Amino acid sequence: MTKETMNKVPDIIIAIDGYSATGKSTLAKLIAKEFGFTYLDSGAMYRAVTLFAMEQGFVPKGEGKIDEKALQDALDKGFDISFGEGNKAFTGDRCIESEIRSMEVSSHVSPVAALPFVRAFVDDKLHAWGRRGRVVMDGRDIGTAVFPEAQLKLFVTASDEVRAQRRYDELLSKGQETPMADVMANLKERDYIDSHRETNPLRQAADAFVLDNSDMNLHEELVWVKGLVMGLFRIYEGV
Ligand code: C5P
Repeated sequence: MTKETMNKVPDIIIAIDGYSATGKSTLAKLIAKEFGFTYLDSGAMYRAVTLFAMEQGFVPKGEGKIDEKALQDALDKGFDISFGEGNKAFTGDRCIESEIRSMEVSSHVSPVAALPFVRAFVDDKLHAWGRRGRVVMDGRDIGTAVFPEAQLKLFVTASDEVRAQRRYDELLSKGQETPMADVMANLKERDYIDSHRETNPLRQAADAFVLDNSDMNLHEELVWVKGLVMGLFRIYEGV
């Protein structure tokens, strides 16, 4: 997209929701780069809160209940999350990007994210960041609950096998060798908890465009999204 056309994209919010490991954040980052938008990864926020809760001992290592009261008190006192260069997650000046992507955090994040006070804490931050527009945000409830007024909503899906392979490859590339069966089990468990929780469960917004990217590469996905943006906002290059 030329710079001139890019500038014609209005100050919209693009909400990208969908199941785990559908490549939402990779696509969202590419869209942000293409349109000159800010990218916000809401899953990273839930992962950061989960890492914090684990390190504070509020989340048991094995089976057991989350110490909700202690976590809520700690969040009330304030927990600093920010994103630095390359969208890497930080708390204070500590980079937590690789820790929040570990299998350990993945296996605890959905129960933590189902707690209403955790959702309220994250939503406050997402609203503050998203207010200015020109934002692309990915998650589970962005188009249904966080920004129901988003002008463009996408709902991304892919087959279980494709999703598990992508997550397996991602973990491997970070030196975290994990049995494929564990990766698949984690994706299914998170999808189940995320779509069955009481507060803002994962579901497709009525006005979302569905993208099944099982057999698509990133370039094809971007072309599809650009077509939507150009059509919806009547931005045509070379016309
Ligand atoms: O997107 P990602 O897989 O990193 O998200 C990690 C987890 O955070 C999800 O499985 C889900 O439990 C939670 N999440 C959520 N709502 C969002 C984004 C993520 O509940 N908007």
